Amino acid sequence: MHRPALGEAHLAARAWLRGQIVAAGLEFRIDRAGNHSAFLACGPAGAPTLLMGSHLDSVPHGGRFDGALGVLAALETLRVVREAHVSLPVHLEAMDFTDEEGTLVGELGSAALAGTLSAQMLQNPRGGRAALQAGLARAGLAEVGLLAARRDPATLAGYLELHIEQGPRLVQAQAPIGVVTGIVGLCSYRLTFAGQGDHAGTTPMADRQDAALGASAFTLAARQVVLEDFPGCVVNVGEMRFAPGAFNIVPAQVDVALEFRAPEPEMLDRLEAALLGQARAAAGQFGLELQVEPLGRTDPTPMSKAAQRAVAEAAGALGLAHVALASGAVHDAQSLAAVCPAGMAFVPSVAGASHSPREFTPWADCVNGANVLLQAALRMALEGGREGREGIG
Ligand SMILES: [Zn+2]
Repeated sequence: MHRPALGEAHLAARAWLRGQIVAAGLEFRIDRAGNHSAFLACGPAGAPTLLMGSHLDSVPHGGRFDGALGVLAALETLRVVREAHVSLPVHLEAMDFTDEEGTLVGELGSAALAGTLSAQMLQNPRGGRAALQAGLARAGLAEVGLLAARRDPATLAGYLELHIEQGPRLVQAQAPIGVVTGIVGLCSYRLTFAGQGDHAGTTPMADRQDAALGASAFTLAARQVVLEDFPGCVVNVGEMRFAPGAFNIVPAQVDVALEFRAPEPEMLDRLEAALLGQARAAAGQFGLELQVEPLGRTDPTPMSKAAQRAVAEAAGALGLAHVALASGAVHDAQSLAAVCPAGMAFVPSVAGASHSPREFTPWADCVNGANVLLQAALRMALEGGREGREGIG
């Protein structure tokens, strides 16, 4: 599936979704961030709305289930409630959020809706300014609209998202449903190991200040530290850039793209300190200078207790085994958690494969997930009516 956000294939998928929404007799909506949705006024006038959804965009050459499953399961939930003529204390809305995957910005539509999108994020987007401007123009959107797409949190009863796990844990646990406890926090850094460029043939081994050795020693040590001391965390060195970068020159400088994730804020802090300590030690070991440039941090986001309970009870009532787990990937639910009770259900990914054409979830698991979403939404809707909204966090 190759559907980068606001490209022709993505816009075609959105046009298809619009047709499905209208054909189902639901109200079709587009907000100023381009989020597409189906709305069902099944609550009393002035009632808040329980949102569900995910995203129809994909990473380049990704899989068929990431995002699309959550959008279609949300739409199906609205169809079932409409066909059954069920009245609820809330309205229901099924959303296809704009640019979740970050071809342009990442969680663009959900951040805009939650009011956490900043002008700064649009000035320096990860996909580049030109790609963002071209995508917005293709979709008939404007930056000023993105920044004005915030919805009043008082109108939101909550948010539920069904998604594929994108990892191997549900398959390993032989559980058809995952109750997501939270979404991991993430830090990224650029580390620069600086030594001295020298002749690769004439400089004695003992006399070299080889920046590649520091970068390599750090990469191996980082893996070891996480394996030994940080269960549930991950670290990735996704890129090393060598300068000058030639067969016959000892590397003078290596830029390392470092990213690491942890499920708890305090753990993210400790992991950060441990990894930067390893970087300094590796630089010192090989006589190198180290520059540390922080590039961004997203704190871990817990899912609401009410939403976790709704998903777990829904699975239990359907006779589906479920396990609690943190999400190692980022999702739109992270944006929504800032403004309303948010939760997620996962279904298994065969071989843990995702962001790849190998991504696959058996049909029976997709159906289980959709049923859990429906039942969890009904529980959240009724609880929202009885007890009012729970506090955020
Ligand atoms: Zn996704």
